[in-house]
Amino acid sequence: MNDFCNICGTIGHFKDYNGRKKVRCKSCGSLERHRKHFNMLKKKRYFFNEDTILLISPAKCMETSLTKMSFKCDTMDIVEGRAKITADITQMPFTDKEYEFIYCSHVLEHVKDDRKAIREMYRVLKPGCYLFLCVPVSNIDKTV
Ligand SMILES: [Zn+2]
Repeated sequence: MNDFCNICGTIGHFKDYNGRKKVRCKSCGSLERHRKHFNMLKKKRYFFNEDTILLISPAKCMETSLTKMSFKCDTMDIVEGRAKITADITQMPFTDKEYEFIYCSHVLEHVKDDRKAIREMYRVLKPGCYLFLCVPVSNIDKTV
């Protein structure tokens, strides 16, 4: 069903966004990618323990939906006021191996030293745990 928001449960309330027709939920603000990510994370939920997860520059709907799934979420953003923790992804104020899951969607394309950011995420991620990393790629002829 195209007009069902699996994050907030709203039916039939999508509006146009960024040139795309009827993709943004009027209730929670989620986009297609958020709803897809939410479905994927819901299926993988049993892989996680009770540890806190880190959401880097998350859309509000993702923070809300993951909190509803009883995850303890730390949120971080480089812009003050957008998240609980204000920090640069290339210099995160966390100890090594602090998180068992990191969600980072549509962030790296805005980071000048993306390799440093990836090293930082690797540093704060517990061994054997998960990084959900998503970067938009469009208008190119081949996979990079
Ligand atoms: Zn919604």
